[in-house]
Amino acid sequence: MEHFDVLIVGAGISGIGAAYHLTQGMPERSFVILEALEDFGGTWLTHKYPGVRSDSDLYTFGYRFKPWTSAPIATAGEILKYMGEVIDDAGLAPHIRYHHHISDASWDGTTNLWTVHATNTQTGEAFTFTTNFLWMCQGYYQHAKGYTPEWPGMDRFQGQIVHPQNWPTDLDYAGKKIVCIGSGATAATVVPAIAGDAAHVTVLQRSPTYFWTGRNVNELADTLRELQIDETWIHEIVRRKVLFDQGALTQLALDEPELVRQALMDGVKALLPEGYDVEQHFGPKYRPWQQRLAFVPDGDLFAGISAGKASMVTDEIETFTETGIRTKGGEDLEADIIITATGFNLSVLGDIAFTVNGEPLDLSKTITYRGMMFTDVPNLLWVFGYFRASWTLRADLISDLVLRLLQLMDDKGAARVTPRLRPEDADMPTLEWISDDNFNPNYLKRSMHLLPKRGDRPEWMHTQDYWLEKESLPAADLDDGCLVFE
Ligand SMILES: Cc1cc2nc3c(=O)[nH]c(=O)nc-3n(C[C@H](O)[C@H](O)[C@H](O)COP(=O)(O)OP(=O)(O)OC[C@H]3O[C@@H](n4cnc5c(N)ncnc54)[C@H](O)[C@@H]3O)c2cc1C
Repeated sequence: MEHFDVLIVGAGISGIGAAYHLTQGMPERSFVILEALEDFGGTWLTHKYPGVRSDSDLYTFGYRFKPWTSAPIATAGEILKYMGEVIDDAGLAPHIRYHHHISDASWDGTTNLWTVHATNTQTGEAFTFTTNFLWMCQGYYQHAKGYTPEWPGMDRFQGQIVHPQNWPTDLDYAGKKIVCIGSGATAATVVPAIAGDAAHVTVLQRSPTYFWTGRNVNELADTLRELQIDETWIHEIVRRKVLFDQGALTQLALDEPELVRQALMDGVKALLPEGYDVEQHFGPKYRPWQQRLAFVPDGDLFAGISAGKASMVTDEIETFTETGIRTKGGEDLEADIIITATGFNLSVLGDIAFTVNGEPLDLSKTITYRGMMFTDVPNLLWVFGYFRASWTLRADLISDLVLRLLQLMDDKGAARVTPRLRPEDADMPTLEWISDDNFNPNYLKRSMHLLPKRGDRPEWMHTQDYWLEKESLPAADLDDGCLVFE
């Protein structure tokens, strides 16, 4: 049994960021990062399909504290290198235990400690840790397996079915006919990456996605570099500029959805052959920003379509056949390989079985404190980043709040901090974790019932609004009665 002041779950971009902030702000704290995989990186380690890259710019997906010095859209390899540098710079490596899968964690209110059980995924050896504070950086989806719906006739198909999250590294797609089901950010990445070598790639989508395109450069960053400005300054200036522009676009999408819709579709139209049915294949039913906008750097997806190497079919699946897919519209799509770019299985708190004072924790019965802690769950915080803006912006903001919280506990001599509804919150209406009207991708809609609830006042909200939270989180009064220190 080992004890640490803080136990961080997950060595993805959130967990490494959390450890960095902790070492800088509270170097005296003991901590460990437990990670189920063989290395750091999380999302950027798990996903190995061709072309895997960010769709956010790295000036904002990168940490606040570590300058990004290359093109804004980055490959998984570049992101892993960047994270590796943070680990080296802050000496985090000795604190990370890889191959440690956490199965359960129990809170004991008599000792004010979490007891965490982990198993070494290679040796089967069992480990027990105790900790004062659980910093949950395990992301929001299951890493082991992506989401594949059940379609009729799947077992009849004679070719190979591949989910991008479990991409076989030896998959030979050269000269093959490929159907890619789904048209989200993953499809937009993998399709241009394989279209050159494949015989043909057909993207089969039930409904279209918004795309926006542009060159993979940041001209402001390049200009500042030419002027030999310090990279720390460039990082900060470019972050501010990107966030300023994104804020304006988000507001415009809310105020004038039709205008933004048309502008996005015009951008796509300009990259496709004359007469292409843009409305059918690239005219979504939802409002811009109700789902994440997929960025296509240098229009590579549309170049593939224009060159005849890729094509779009907007239809539903009737059945898989021996040789491919028959659509409800009666089209037979031939395939040697079918890629199911159909998304994630949401994971709530890393599928860890939690108990609080002997009672199993059902997170869906809790109300969130500011989208990071949960009523009646002491000393536990979940880093749930932004979906529309870069995830890491929120990870950095939350890290600042955690350090303030730990300091306040010290100042008060408190061993535990627990979110509890105040008397005036007793009749507060409760709402879903994220409203469907605000953000509605299918992986969230499928699992919304598993997620915590939010309230209708600032302390109990989960807004997904960076522009609001960049002011409200640093200013939050942690001693306003919502958090009970004991
Ligand atoms: C292909 C892809 C591209 C994306 N691109 C962007 C983008 O451009 N911009 C953006 O903002 N977001 C993007 N996202 C969302 C992305 O997942 C997050 O932004 C971010 O990477 C999440 O980081 P994280 O560290 O919180 O979680 P993760 O990256 O999911 O890492 C969590 C880690 O916790 C570990 N873990 C989980 N459960 C346990 C357990 N029980 N025991 C031990 N360890 C555990 C996992 O093994 C994993 O390593 C993308 C997602 C995908 C899949």
